[in-house]
Amino acid sequence: MKKDDCIFCKIANGEIPSATVYEDELFRVILDIAPAVKGHALILPKEHYDNLWALGKEESERVMNLAAKVSEAQKKALGCDGINLLQNNGVAAGQTVFHFHMHLIPRYDDDKVTIPWNTLSYAEGEAAKVCETIKAAMQ
Ligand code: 5GP
Ligand code: ZN
Repeated sequence: MKKDDCIFCKIANGEIPSATVYEDELFRVILDIAPAVKGHALILPKEHYDNLWALGKEESERVMNLAAKVSEAQKKALGCDGINLLQNNGVAAGQTVFHFHMHLIPRYDDDKVTIPWNTLSYAEGEAAKVCETIKAAMQ
């Protein structure tokens, strides 16, 4: 399904032009309009999914396969030293466009780009408890 007021639905389906590096029946891969690094790409499904939780299992698998393929091409074409895959879900996680997308950000040893977080530590036994909670929810 497409969503009428969604800019990424319009871009993914070609209603709004974009710098497209790849397209198939399910996905369009475009250059981010405000790149962290030149060549920063976004994988967009042509159907509207708000986020990863809405994306189906099959689509998720295809996104990851496509990410591997596009990142190979970025490495070959740009000669970057590394690539970050980044995928934000929810306002708390920094999502600003609520149509699933995966970022592929080429990285260079000296690019000075930061994707930082402050690290915490677990109290004695806390990691095991958190682990168990998540593990139980996996059933
Ligand atoms: P988010 O913060 O939701 O993970 O990332 C949204 C990304 O979409 C941002 O990096 C932003 O630069 C990019 N973006 C937003 N609007 C447009 C647009 O109209 N065209 C393109 N190519 N990228 C966009
Ligand atoms: Zn959409």
